[in-house]
Amino acid sequence: MNPQSEIERLRREIERHDRLYYIEAQPEISDAEYDALMRRLIELEKEYPELLTVDSPSQRVGGAPLEGFKSVAHSQRMLSLANAYSFEELEDFDRRVRETLEAPYGYFCELKIDGVAIALRYRSRLLELGITRGDGSVGDDVTTNLRTIRGIPLRAPEFAPPDFEVRGEVYMQTDDFLKMNEERELAGENKFANPRNSTAGSLKLLNTKEVTKRPLRAFIYDLRGVENPTLHSECLNLMEELGLPVNKNRRLCGDLREVWDFCEEWHDKRHALPYEIDGVVLKIDSLPQRGALGSTAKSPRWAIAYKFPAQQAKTLLKGITLQVGRMGYITPVAELEPVYLAGSTIKRATLHNEDEIARKDIRVGDTVIIEKGGDVIPKVTSVDLGERPEDSTPFIMPGICPACGAKLVREADEVMRRCPNVACPPQRLGRIKHFASRGGMDIEGLGESTVQQLLDSGLISDFGDLYYLTKAQLLPLERMAEKSAENLLQGIDSSKDRTLDRLIYALGIKLVGAGAARILNERFGNIDELAKADVEKLEAIDEIGPGIAQSVVDFFANPSNRKVLEKLRKAGVRFSAEKGGGEVEMVFEGMTFVLTGALENFTREEAAELIRARGGKVVSSVSKKTSMVLVGENPGSKHRKAVELGVKVMEEGEFVKIIEGRNE
Ligand SMILES: [Zn+2]
Repeated sequence: MNPQSEIERLRREIERHDRLYYIEAQPEISDAEYDALMRRLIELEKEYPELLTVDSPSQRVGGAPLEGFKSVAHSQRMLSLANAYSFEELEDFDRRVRETLEAPYGYFCELKIDGVAIALRYRSRLLELGITRGDGSVGDDVTTNLRTIRGIPLRAPEFAPPDFEVRGEVYMQTDDFLKMNEERELAGENKFANPRNSTAGSLKLLNTKEVTKRPLRAFIYDLRGVENPTLHSECLNLMEELGLPVNKNRRLCGDLREVWDFCEEWHDKRHALPYEIDGVVLKIDSLPQRGALGSTAKSPRWAIAYKFPAQQAKTLLKGITLQVGRMGYITPVAELEPVYLAGSTIKRATLHNEDEIARKDIRVGDTVIIEKGGDVIPKVTSVDLGERPEDSTPFIMPGICPACGAKLVREADEVMRRCPNVACPPQRLGRIKHFASRGGMDIEGLGESTVQQLLDSGLISDFGDLYYLTKAQLLPLERMAEKSAENLLQGIDSSKDRTLDRLIYALGIKLVGAGAARILNERFGNIDELAKADVEKLEAIDEIGPGIAQSVVDFFANPSNRKVLEKLRKAGVRFSAEKGGGEVEMVFEGMTFVLTGALENFTREEAAELIRARGGKVVSSVSKKTSMVLVGENPGSKHRKAVELGVKVMEEGEFVKIIEGRNE
């Protein structure tokens, strides 16, 4: 046999065994025999390097460790599903579907795998890109790590559409997970809490060689980028034919009763599965009908996840502490005798609010039932009254803030008490942490302890102050070496250019999560436009409800928020969307401006913002690279230098014309 055909034969053979092992769960050969095939392939490819291709099964392990993961935008947003916990909630969902759809519809039911969501793009039938969900709009490029998963084909067969995208879930089988944990324990390494956490951790490893040691698998449940078929069930069949790992436990149901049968059946059979599931997903089968139903900011209206009842444990409630959130709301927290539940040890659980505590009559010293479902925060559900000590007394919610001593307030329409003191330390800390968080301005090197240090030392009092920190201020801080100070300043500086939706989210406006921030960004494209909007204008936006509208208006009306915003603006934090947000044209794209002299219509910063919003850059000194000098009254040396260097000069009148689009 010539080497080319032997290499081809070995590759097909290995791919077939990968499929038998990882998809059919019916291996035909032993691991040793498999390894022998792989060794032979690698040998031949070494001997004939010209025959090596990227889709060879020998190429699943990447080269040198990565420095970090690139961010990649999703082709379409990767939404998460709304949850239902009972048949009644499924009925509510079905009622909403019926209100929109007139024609008959079917539900397709699949198991809800407790794993980590991913998207895979195939181009010219080769696996090109693998992305984590991230915030739903942008995820991490973890292609090299996903290539190590042998159930994921590196190439699609000839009859596949050339370009397509699939979405699915990466997971670990329970026995693989336990075995891996045992090995880690023997090697003196930390054990993982559960299969899901270790899957998520594995995908974030920068060294692909490490990833190959993790027993990752995948299920694919969604096909995108092809016009046919138009039924989800047929898409799954097609993906199965393409060799993608599609879960076999699935069923098309004619009505909600059949859906419920499927849910109950798998609730009972779930422990017989080799992997963990936490519920059932039901989706409208027809893709055109899905289109008709659409999505909310958070989740599609054509699918819902039914979650199995949570697992429970009993333990002692040792105390109740109060936690102050970034909005000032006080959450009572149960301090528990540690107890093991569904894969992890629980020491604390939320008690939600004082009404909940009163309703369930939860008292310190009680034996309580705690519950945990999926990745939901554990909660106290009830009290075992039989074990209540005789001398116990009802819990009384303190009237003052545990952190700052301010008198707590409770609005008539709210269930939680709030500390009204905006300077309250944990609120400050929480706001700045939120601002710097990964979903927000993503400031590297600014963890909780650093924020605390900066607050304690008086260097900052809000997130606007971050942009004015200097190295000389940072160095005297404890544990702050030259290098870490530089990294922190670098991290803060690069956050100035984050996209506008991130900034809107990072401001911490009540009720404005990542989804609403994205919508506000799309609609306004500019912080100043958003700040000018009234409740009516905001409410006119489809996905924005009256609560969010009011809270946005309140936020921008608040003088202390305005002050912080001005700090951000002066520091040069980007206040407009990348593409200029709607009507604004990128007339200054790629141009570098220098401003000099006093302008009549704008402050310098306003003019700079207008330039940036139109794609230009503003720098402080004139050089040959400067495209334009904008001159006002009494221009100084910069004007002279511009003339010397032959840099173009623009006067305010002309600038105004361009800004107002009157330049034609
Ligand atoms: Zn307080």
